Amino acid sequence: MHTTYYKINHVNKEMNRIVQAGQMIRDGGLVAFPTETVYGLGANGLDESSVQKIFMAKGRPSDNPLILHIAHLEDVNPLVKMLPEKALQLAERFWPGPLTLIFKRSELVPETVSGGLSTVAIRMPDHPVALALIEASGVPLAAPSANRSGRPSPTTAQHVLQDLEGRIDYVLDGGPTGLGLESTVLDLTVDVPTILRPGAISREDLLDILNDVAVDEPSSQQKPKAPGMKYTHYAPQAPVFIMDETGEAFRSKLNALVDDFHDKGQKVGVLVTHEDAHRLNGDVIKVIGSKYHLASVAANLFKMLREFDETSVDIILAQAVPEEGWGIAIMNRLIKAAGGKKL
Ligand code: AMP
Ligand code: MG
Repeated sequence: MHTTYYKINHVNKEMNRIVQAGQMIRDGGLVAFPTETVYGLGANGLDESSVQKIFMAKGRPSDNPLILHIAHLEDVNPLVKMLPEKALQLAERFWPGPLTLIFKRSELVPETVSGGLSTVAIRMPDHPVALALIEASGVPLAAPSANRSGRPSPTTAQHVLQDLEGRIDYVLDGGPTGLGLESTVLDLTVDVPTILRPGAISREDLLDILNDVAVDEPSSQQKPKAPGMKYTHYAPQAPVFIMDETGEAFRSKLNALVDDFHDKGQKVGVLVTHEDAHRLNGDVIKVIGSKYHLASVAANLFKMLREFDETSVDIILAQAVPEEGWGIAIMNRLIKAAGGKKL
């Protein structure tokens, strides 16, 4: 399959390309597009066989549900059994934006979209290209992140091509995504609304509108509520290990570890915050951003994990960031990339 690449600098000037891509969606094709979080891989979210192509292109397990992307608030109505008052308030406050809401799904939503669950995840992305594509398609777009399953999510169109060139119909390049981590996923089908995946919209943000918000702890669950939570994600080729230390403790431990790996003939990649990025050994050192400006860390995380694949490192040592605000979402992704491994 040939993948058509279009750079979209201005939605209005390049509307003909977006209309073409929207037609491809209606014809059952796959279109990768930018959102404010990461690049998505879109298909007609109301058509079973179109949605199945997403799973094939990504190599995604079929019980891992997809998010439906809409461009107008009223588009949520036909997709859900009911729209709770609190959901409406959340949508009015945070849409378009990086908040995905989970509802009881209507008959209109194909089984494949919800990975066999009775629920459906919906959001309105805050990106002009995404919104224009959804409008041009005239259907909700089922769209997971546009990476091969298990790989770090794409934050540029080049990342999408690395993983999916020849497997999808179009890539719309809207430049690097702003936030760099996927949306907050909030389950509204349970007694206490529950965060299933942390993102840019924090628990505190949600508490402005909700009386109580629980945070799902995957380890304590019997059965994962979101099947996606049971799979390893976001991983570069070399194994990742997390280190919790900072300052002198980090430096001396890291340098000792690097010596050990060198003795075994292994090359070491280091992912470190700006504050601790001096006097470190290691073969490839990447400064991910400042721990006092975690938005920069979020924006760089997936990109830098991918960059290690272009080096010959055998192992990656990644410094943890404080688990506050953005740090919660960052550490959620980093822990998955490391498969929970620490040193
Ligand atoms: P991604 O595929 O990277 O865009 O992530 C989509 C994620 O949204 C899934 O892996 C799930 O964690 C979550 N999700 C989507 N639909 C549902 C649903 N019906 N119930 C729970 N989680 C969902
Ligand atoms: Mg993903």
